[in-house]
Amino acid sequence: MRLVATSVDFEGLAMTIPERINRFLTERKPSIFCDGCIAKNLDLSKPQEAQRVTSAFETTSDFVREYGVCSLCGEVRLAIRRA
Ligand SMILES: [Zn+2]
Repeated sequence: MRLVATSVDFEGLAMTIPERINRFLTERKPSIFCDGCIAKNLDLSKPQEAQRVTSAFETTSDFVREYGVCSLCGEVRLAIRRA
């Protein structure tokens, strides 16, 4: 788990990846997004970076993990949204 990893090294931003994903989902609530689209939109190096975070988020009551049509790619995927 690299939940404390920051994006400083490749983007010059001080926000951590979990913070950025949280903000991304909160701003777009209640739309749902797959890990791949989250990774692409936040310029993460790979979908696994997003998946690591979203699988931690899904254990909280703030997020809902479900199969649905991703708001970006339109595919039915395991996705996540802000509760
Ligand atoms: Zn998608």
